[in-house]
Amino acid sequence: MTHSELARVAKQSNGPVYVYDAAKIQSQYYRLKKAFSGVKKLKINYACKALSNISILKLMESMGSGLDTVSFQEVLLGIEAGFKPENIIFTPNGVSLEEIETVAKMGVQINIDNLSILEQFGTKHPKVPVCIRINPHVMAGGNSNISVGHIDSKFGISIHQIPHVLRIVENTKMHINGVHMHTGSDILDIEVFLHASEILFNTAMQFKDLSFIDFGSGFKVPYREGDIETNIEELGEKLTHRFEAFCKTYGKTLELAFEPGKFLVSEAGYFLSKVNAVKQTTSTVFAQVDSGFNHLIRPMFYNSYHEIINLTNPEGRERFYTVVGYICETDTFGSNRKIAEISEGDVLAFKNAGAYCMTMASNYNSRFRPAEVLWYQGEAHLIRKEETFEDLIQNQILIDFNEKVEA
Ligand SMILES: *Cc1c(COP(=O)(O)O)cnc(C)c1O
Repeated sequence: MTHSELARVAKQSNGPVYVYDAAKIQSQYYRLKKAFSGVKKLKINYACKALSNISILKLMESMGSGLDTVSFQEVLLGIEAGFKPENIIFTPNGVSLEEIETVAKMGVQINIDNLSILEQFGTKHPKVPVCIRINPHVMAGGNSNISVGHIDSKFGISIHQIPHVLRIVENTKMHINGVHMHTGSDILDIEVFLHASEILFNTAMQFKDLSFIDFGSGFKVPYREGDIETNIEELGEKLTHRFEAFCKTYGKTLELAFEPGKFLVSEAGYFLSKVNAVKQTTSTVFAQVDSGFNHLIRPMFYNSYHEIINLTNPEGRERFYTVVGYICETDTFGSNRKIAEISEGDVLAFKNAGAYCMTMASNYNSRFRPAEVLWYQGEAHLIRKEETFEDLIQNQILIDFNEKVEA
């Protein structure tokens, strides 16, 4: 969507708002699908922790996407949005056996990443097919906070423990129908991905009755000019070739699954917030917006870069600003950013605000979580109202201290 369309949405909203461009989500989905069009059976399961508004989920469902979930609550959101349980995969980490059993009962595909749970689940429910998440111990590179394949990672069952998995399978007679990896949120290098895939293929050979291999995600999208972006087309070409060859060796046409989050929604999202104050100090000019890390925490939490533009005065002379929020502690969105001249009341847009932004929002400082708007076919559709004081207070219980209790 264009900046002037964004500015139109800004005019209609009074508080901070997230805006998502449906066309961008669709084009990313179809781009991924096209890159892997040579695969006989392809499944894209949108990782909904990135952005979980049910209208976004419904948009994904309308394109034929499945859903990747990490909690029982996300499964419920998926069902609410219209997903069939068989098109949902549950890939949690560190959840209880009871939660896994509850989700399995609904008919959702279970993915287990822990030997203890695998043994308990297999013993109790040998007939329920289970996917296993392995850790190939391949570093995806980039920011070490978001690489999950390394040796100390809490994610997945180590490939060195496959003999133990096989013993559990033999002892419980459970059915492993898929193998899975998800090595992190920052794949810089296709070669690294392909290397991890070979480890996954080797693992897959150990299991006789698979239906699918799930390669997770970690596709990188650009956050600023010059950023490396995963070359999906090149990955598609190389992995398709390798996967089809593997299926021949395996003796069965398996499904190739992915579970992208960021790739599908990051660039489609914008966060709009009004400038409350422009504050000159001895060392910088602060633009203070009507928001903070209660709404958008990635810059403070992960040191992520989100491009910031001035929607109200796009042609203004560029100046350097430090953009901060209203939270009563340091909450810097960006330092020394060149932005078209800012006046109080201007609306700033933060780009790449589709993934891990609204879903990580909180009520810190007792602020309301913002509204969400879907820009679809040239029109703004409200898909979540801004919270109200009612929402803040509804689960709190006020104790009556009027009656003095004797000590
Ligand atoms: C978070 C997550 C994803 C999505 O990762 P992106 O980097 O957003 O694409 C996929 N699979 C699993 C298991 C995840 O936890």
